[in-house]
Amino acid sequence: MQISRLKLSGFKSFVEPAELRIEPGLTGVVGPNGCGKSNLLEAIRWVMGETSAKSMRSGGMEDVIFAGTSSRPERAFAEAVLHAQDDEGEELVVTRRIERGAGSAYRVNGSDVRAKDVALTFADAATGAHSPALVSQGKIAQVIAAKPAERRKMLEEAAGISGLHVRRKDAESKLRSTEANLARLEDLMAGLD
Ligand code: ATP
Repeated sequence: MQISRLKLSGFKSFVEPAELRIEPGLTGVVGPNGCGKSNLLEAIRWVMGETSAKSMRSGGMEDVIFAGTSSRPERAFAEAVLHAQDDEGEELVVTRRIERGAGSAYRVNGSDVRAKDVALTFADAATGAHSPALVSQGKIAQVIAAKPAERRKMLEEAAGISGLHVRRKDAESKLRSTEANLARLEDLMAGLD
C-alpha cells in the first residue's frame, strides 16, 4: 500500500486545513521543536484507527481536536483524510472525524464503516496504526529494548498477518457463543424427552 496524501483540519496544531503529498520511498519530516512533526505521524496513526489516547500523547481522544490559543477559539471537530493506493492500484480514501461529545466516525471511499473495518483494511495491507513503517522519535531504541514477544508482534505487523489474529479472536468468540447455544438446546431437548 502506498500512502499518497494526507489532509488535516482541526487536528492538534493543524487548525487550518493542511494537505501533504507523500511521495514514494522513504519520507522524513524535519522542522524546529514543537512545529508539529509528531502530530503529523500521529494523524496518520489516528486515521488508521488508533484507539489508544495515550499513544496520541492525549488524556482522552477528544484532546486531538485543536484546543484553541489565546487568540483562536477551540475547534468543534478534527478530521483527517488519508489517500492511499492498494497493491492492485485501487484508490482508497479513508476519513476519520471526531466531534466533541460525539466520538469518532469513519468513512472508506465515501461509505460509513466501523473502526474495526478500517483497522483490518490496513492490517491486511501490512500497515496500520502500529506499523513499523511509521518510525516516531524513540522508536529505534524501543525496538532494540523490546522483549521477544513484543518483537514478534512487530514482525507480524510487518508481515501483514496481524489482521488474521483479530479475525481468529472474532471466530473464537463466535464459536464459544455457538457452543453455549448448543448446550442450552441440548438441555431444552432433554427436558422434552
Ligand atoms: P519536537 O521536535 O520537540 O518533538 P514536534 O515537531 O514533534 O516537536 P509536536 O509534538 O508534533 O512537535 O507538536 C507540539 C505542538 O502541538 C505543541 O505546540 C502543542 O501545543 C501543539 N498541540 C498538541 N495538541 C494540540 C491541540 N489539541 N490543540 C492545539 N495545539 C496542540
